[in-house]
Formats: sequence, structure tokens, C-alpha cells
Amino acid sequence: EAKSGDHANIVMFTPSLGNRVRNRMALEQEIREAISARQFVLHYQPIVGLSSGQVSGFEALVRWNHPLRGLISPNEFIPIAEQNGSIVSLGEWVLQEACAALARLHRTMPAGFLPSVAVNIAPVQFLQPDFIAQLRAVLRETGVPPACLKLEVTEGVAIIDSERTRRTLEQCRDIGVRTGLDDFGTGYSSLSYLHSLPFDTLKIDRSFIAAMERPKSLSIVRTILDLSKKLGLSVVAEGIETDRQSLSLAAWGCEFGQGYLLGRPEPEATAFRFNPARPIL
Ligand code: C2E
Ligand code: MG
Ligand code: MG
Ligand code: MG
Repeated sequence: EAKSGDHANIVMFTPSLGNRVRNRMALEQEIREAISARQFVLHYQPIVGLSSGQVSGFEALVRWNHPLRGLISPNEFIPIAEQNGSIVSLGEWVLQEACAALARLHRTMPAGFLPSVAVNIAPVQFLQPDFIAQLRAVLRETGVPPACLKLEVTEGVAIIDSERTRRTLEQCRDIGVRTGLDDFGTGYSSLSYLHSLPFDTLKIDRSFIAAMERPKSLSIVRTILDLSKKLGLSVVAEGIETDRQSLSLAAWGCEFGQGYLLGRPEPEATAFRFNPARPIL
């Protein structure tokens, strides 16, 4: 009897699939046009020091401000943009815009406060041969201190090409730009990448934080915190929604947190209107 995998490339062409294919092709074309029509916007979500309660920086999160459909979530278009390659130009715009916004924010800050911005970089973008040149150019043009920029990548990047990933991470470190492993714990081989690649930060995936009421998830979170301490990595817990989660994480030495409890992603105009000296927790 044939294994089900043998049929993986055989697709029944039903009308509904036909629609999906057409929608997808239309969407690919629309993404390209939306980049030049400047329909993408960045929202910023605070990343907070869990013991100080102060905002240490923001994660830039892209949305598509569609003229007919309103704000579209990145989950709906990033995977398609990754597949058709338009993520490279979209990602270039995101990096440029996030750094320009950070420079604007820094001009409003009192002395001694230099918040950082974290930018998600898709694997194909991170592995572009000219990525580091692009990064240097953006830093030069916007004037943001390299230490205030953090690049978030998922382990997908190391699965595609772990040697280039290592070289690019090392070049980021040489420039002074920090790097973080995003969605930690959701992939297949996070532990080996964590130990062998020069990341500065680890972001614990929201699914573990959401499940912290369960003893098993709780011990996973504590183990990740212990491990990062031993590896000298700083940690951000994603998806903090309750006081309980925030207090437990702080008590266990988790340095930074992000989540709806601490602040939702918002447009620049509202996200950046905050007093950096005042704890939000
Ligand atoms: P991510 O990088 O892991 O970003 C965190 C996601 O969790 C964001 O979703 C954020 O809004 C959401 N989130 C934050 N706190 C909470 C919470 O307390 N509860 C819940 N339920 N969710 C929370 P968002 O903005 O929809 O982005 C989804 C994903 O899309 C991101 O996951 C990232 O992988 C990707 N993405 C977003 N912006 C970009 C970008 O500029 N470039 C690339 N390549 N990918 C991006
Ligand atoms: Mg991220
Ligand atoms: Mg994440
Ligand atoms: Mg994610």
C-alpha cells in the first residue's frame, strides 16, 4: 500500500482551489504594488524591563494598510511575501523606516535614555549577500547608534544556511548591532543553534508563556531562563498578558517582557508618547 507521502504532490483541482490559486497570484502582485504605493505601516510594541518596569525599547511590527480591506495582519502576507521574494524589498523598507523612526524617537528623549528598536528579519532577507552592506547604509543614513538596533530572526535562517547565518551574526556583532533568536522553543533544533550561534538575546515564544499555569510549561520556562543565564544571553518573554505571568517571570530572573499587559503594538504617534523614566508596571 502506498504511503500517504507518495501523493503529496498530487493535487485535486477543485473550483475552490482554483480560487485560492488565483487569489494568491493576485495577492503576490498586490504586495509588490503596495510596496511602491507605500501602503505598509509599522506599529511599535514596548519591550519592558521586568524589574524596573521601564520601557527599554520597541519591536517594530509591519501591517498592511489596505485601501479597501483596512489593516491586514502580517500573518496574512509575510508568508506569501517570503515565498515570492517580495519580502526582500518589503524588509528593506521596514529596516529603513524602523531606524528612521528610532532616530525621531531619540530626538524627543531626555538625556540618558536611548530606547532600542527590534526589527524582524526574514531568513531570505538575512541571507542576502548584500544584507550587511544594507544594514551599514541604513545605520549611516539614519544615524542611530548600532547598539540601539536589534535584529530578530527565527531558527529558519540557520536551517537554510547555518554557515552564512554564523558569518552574518558575527558581522552584526562587529558592527555593534544586537541579534535575537525569535519564537524560541517552537522549532526543531533551537537548542543546538542557541549553543553554536552568536546570538545576544533569546525570545521565549508566547505559547510557553500562555501555558505557564501548567506545571510542565512552567518548568520549560524556568529551564530556558537557567540555560540563557548560563549561556550569557539576555531574555525577552513574549506574550505576557497577566500580572501573574509578569511577576513570576521577574521573580525567576527574566530580564525583559513584551505583551498586551505591558502594551499593544501601536502607531508611532501614540507608541512613542511615553515617559521613559516612569515605570509602566
Ligand atoms: P513575532 O516577531 O513573534 O511578533 C510578536 C507577535 O505577537 C506580534 O504579532 C504581536 O502583536 C503579538 N503579540 C505581542 N504580545 C502579545 C500578547 O500578549 N498576546 C498575543 N496573543 N499576541 C501578542 P503580529 O504583529 O501579528 O506579527 C506576527 C508575526 O509576523 C511576527 O511574530 C513576525 O514573525 C512577523 N512579522 C511582523 N512584522 C514583520 C516584519 O517587519 N518583517 C518580517 N519578516 N516579519 C514580521
Ligand atoms: Mg519578533
Ligand atoms: Mg516572536
Ligand atoms: Mg512569531
